Amino acid sequence: MPKDYCDFGINASYYLPIFELVRDVGRETAPPEEVDARRDEAPDRIETRTLRIIRDTVWAERVKEEHDHMCQICKTRIELNGGEAYAEAHHVVPLKEGGPDVKENIMCVCPNHHAMLDDKIRRLTPEKTVGVAKAYVRWHNRKVAITKQTAV
Ligand SMILES: [Zn+2]
Repeated sequence: MPKDYCDFGINASYYLPIFELVRDVGRETAPPEEVDARRDEAPDRIETRTLRIIRDTVWAERVKEEHDHMCQICKTRIELNGGEAYAEAHHVVPLKEGGPDVKENIMCVCPNHHAMLDDKIRRLTPEKTVGVAKAYVRWHNRKVAITKQTAV
């Protein structure tokens, strides 16, 4: 809604009710009592069908245990309330891109570094990738280079 009517060549007050009508079309909201009644309802749900890669978590769990659930990049170890530690297993060459589900393709990382590695915004260095096959590290770093080239 215009607050400044300087550009109107005619009496703007004539048009204001029309503007308000146009603005309010489609903005009908539920009466307050209906909104209050819906507040406690669970959000609507839809049924979906998903195809997931079946992965063997044995190697992921083993890599996390070998690193004592400590991120191989930043050395963060997240301890949960129950006393157990939390870490994530990152497949350096993702399974969806043909990477194997083997120990040499898995790193133990914190959630932040997992996201950075998945998004290919961080290169890997040899000292941070103990236990990972060099070929997989090279694959990852080539992807980072391509991402940075296209991002610039
Ligand atoms: Zn980390």
